[in-house]
Amino acid sequence: MSNILAITGRPNVGKSTLFNRLVERKKAIMDNESGVTRDRHYGFGQWNGKYFTIIDTGGYVTGSDDIFEEAIRDQVKLALDEASVILFMVDCKDGLTDMDQDFANILRELKKPVFVVANKADNPDLIMMANEFYGLGLESDIHVIASTSGAGTGDLLDAVVEHFEDSDLENPEEGIPRISILGRPNAGKSSYLNALLGKDRSIVTDIAGTTRDAINTRYKLFGKDFILTDTAGIRKKSKVKEDIEFYSVLRAIQSLQDSDVCIVMIDAERGFEAQDMNIITLADKYKKGIMIMVNKWDLIEDKTTNTAENFRKDIQEKLGNPLSYIPIIFTSVTQKQRIFQAIELAIEVNTNRTRRITTSELNDAMLAEIEHYPPPALKGKHIKIKYVTQLPTRTPSFAFFCNLPQYIKEPYERFLTNKLRSHFDFRGVPIKIYFRQK
Ligand code: GDP
Ligand code: GDP
Repeated sequence: MSNILAITGRPNVGKSTLFNRLVERKKAIMDNESGVTRDRHYGFGQWNGKYFTIIDTGGYVTGSDDIFEEAIRDQVKLALDEASVILFMVDCKDGLTDMDQDFANILRELKKPVFVVANKADNPDLIMMANEFYGLGLESDIHVIASTSGAGTGDLLDAVVEHFEDSDLENPEEGIPRISILGRPNAGKSSYLNALLGKDRSIVTDIAGTTRDAINTRYKLFGKDFILTDTAGIRKKSKVKEDIEFYSVLRAIQSLQDSDVCIVMIDAERGFEAQDMNIITLADKYKKGIMIMVNKWDLIEDKTTNTAENFRKDIQEKLGNPLSYIPIIFTSVTQKQRIFQAIELAIEVNTNRTRRITTSELNDAMLAEIEHYPPPALKGKHIKIKYVTQLPTRTPSFAFFCNLPQYIKEPYERFLTNKLRSHFDFRGVPIKIYFRQK
């Protein structure tokens, strides 16, 4: 599955305004790093129960006199190549411009669903202006919106998500965990895949080509079946050196959408970095199993008994409490240290992700906890949680039935989540709880 929505168009038409409206939390996923990564915007959205990643290509277009040269730079092209649906934004106030026309010509070549989005249609006169964009000659309806107020965006999304796959789509190789290995360039991902495979693999995929599906390899190890989604080697073929970082992020987004468990690989010498956090945040939102593999552990000198523990604490501090469920393993791919344990851990995480707890087990454990520490009364009203059940969702989620669900606040929700985790093994798995009226 790859549900990626790219928003593109010339500067100032309102791309980032729409982006901010569509992502779940404002700029939830942002790459703050200096150097090759600049103004990149990745976000997570959901609509009609479908999940998708949104890319604002705007960041690459600004800051140049020769804007159009800039606009079609490789990074924009890459983003558009990876996208499954493209929103091509134009501006009703400015009308159809030459640059819009140039953009349209490029988009036509891509042979992908392109939606022409006529923005800034703040009033009926401007709405009428939108007809002008039929002149672009794209085979698309014109979707008229106003990003600042949100008008029209609901209808637009209805149409967009039609093109997206169901996140809960049954997997053709049912039950076999799909594991992806993500992480910054040079962390050791390809070496790891090679180590597991026992031989060097060369992946011949032309970056300029159109299909770049992940290569899925099915394994049998310790009597367990799993599929490794191999994306690591592909970027090596990139002809565009400065795109490596960017491309690896796009790959990671695709790859994680397509897997059950993500192994986020970190270079021990570099430590835990902002981009690792971005990937983990995204994986958590997609409700994937997650584990961290601190690789190149052999390069850490003068290790004492506390070194790993301190390293682990440091990562956990950066992750913060809501992500403390993520297990961390220390490996050396070159020394073949714990490389199979890492896979075993990933399989265990997958098992936890599919864990089903019976309602009676849940109530036995949780009602006792609740009785011991009931939700605090609010505005003089007592909140009574009557029972809890696991929902039939693909990833663990639980409904707590109570008299006044709206009165339960975040700290108590966190308390219940922590208690669920202490009674049942959901290591490596995001869990979600809901409060419902009873
Ligand atoms: P980008 O360069 O394409 O990302 O454009 P921005 O999102 O930064 O928007 C450029 C300007 O257009 C900002 O001043 C926005 O507030 C404004 N803008 C965006 N959407 C609308 C809209 O629907 N109506 C109006 N009137 N202004 C808008
Ligand atoms: P990728 O970009 O994440 O696929 O990383 P590579 O697999 O290409 O590895 C980058 C470099 O790190 C290569 O020179 C590897 O030999 C080296 N490397 C990978 N794993 C380890 C490890 O566990 N220890 C050490 N010392 N080097 C490693």
